[in-house]
Amino acid sequence: MAKGGQHFLVDRRVLARIVEVADLNLGDVVLEIGAGTGNLTEVLSEYAGRVIAIEKDLSLVRELNNTVVSENVDVIHADALKIDFPPFNKVVSNLPYQISSPVTFKLFNYEFDLAVLMYQDEFARRIVAESGRKEYGRLTVMAQYFAETKLLFKVPRGAFKPQPAVSSAVVRLEMRKRPRGAIDEEFFSRVVRAAFAHRRKKLKNTLLANLPVEREELEKLSPELLEVRAENLTLAEFIELANTLYSSRYIL
Ligand code: SAM
Repeated sequence: MAKGGQHFLVDRRVLARIVEVADLNLGDVVLEIGAGTGNLTEVLSEYAGRVIAIEKDLSLVRELNNTVVSENVDVIHADALKIDFPPFNKVVSNLPYQISSPVTFKLFNYEFDLAVLMYQDEFARRIVAESGRKEYGRLTVMAQYFAETKLLFKVPRGAFKPQPAVSSAVVRLEMRKRPRGAIDEEFFSRVVRAAFAHRRKKLKNTLLANLPVEREELEKLSPELLEVRAENLTLAEFIELANTLYSSRYIL
């Protein structure tokens, strides 16, 4: 049953709840990353117009092709980290936990409406964290920049087969449309990465160490801001910081 340490969601009530919060209709094209044995795929296909189910494991792809008979499901045998996603407007997945971080950041490169994603509980908490908390980090700031995030519900270990060691949680990301506030999103992302490179250091030091930026440029920022640590900066302050630095000259 367990393929490469994966835990399949078998509780039908949890499956139904995930699909319900995705608010599906026939106009939706849903991306599912890691379709596994198709438990979620089948329910998605009942409510969405089309489901694109990506699965890396060939034996599971064969199983999916045999068991998920709906005509509105396209099964793609691929590593989700290595392909360009076809157009979609919602993503609903019980994610393979080992790729939670890269796949979440990858999704931020796409324009779409909504994500309903199941993660390990600890990862889910990082997405919705408030500034000042230990869970608050680069993932939090980037997720909250691209989306309005909400932790919906916890999923007990017993909902999976085989049972995982830790519990899971479902997060809803309502994606923001452009303009989202940063003058240059690539630059904003670099600033956030640099700021959290040493989360215990003051912003002034971590920016100097991790961005090609000069001391004079940092002087354009408010001195109080430079004395705080990244973990205490709100999303709005991060946007302001990146935009001020960008406008002050920034050439990448
Ligand atoms: N959606 C199913 C469910 O809820 O029961 C399966 C979820 S299971 C946690 C994750 C699935 O992702 C597994 O079937 C695994 O083979 C697949 N997977 C792991 N890494 C992947 C990757 N890089 N790209 C696509 N699928 C992947």
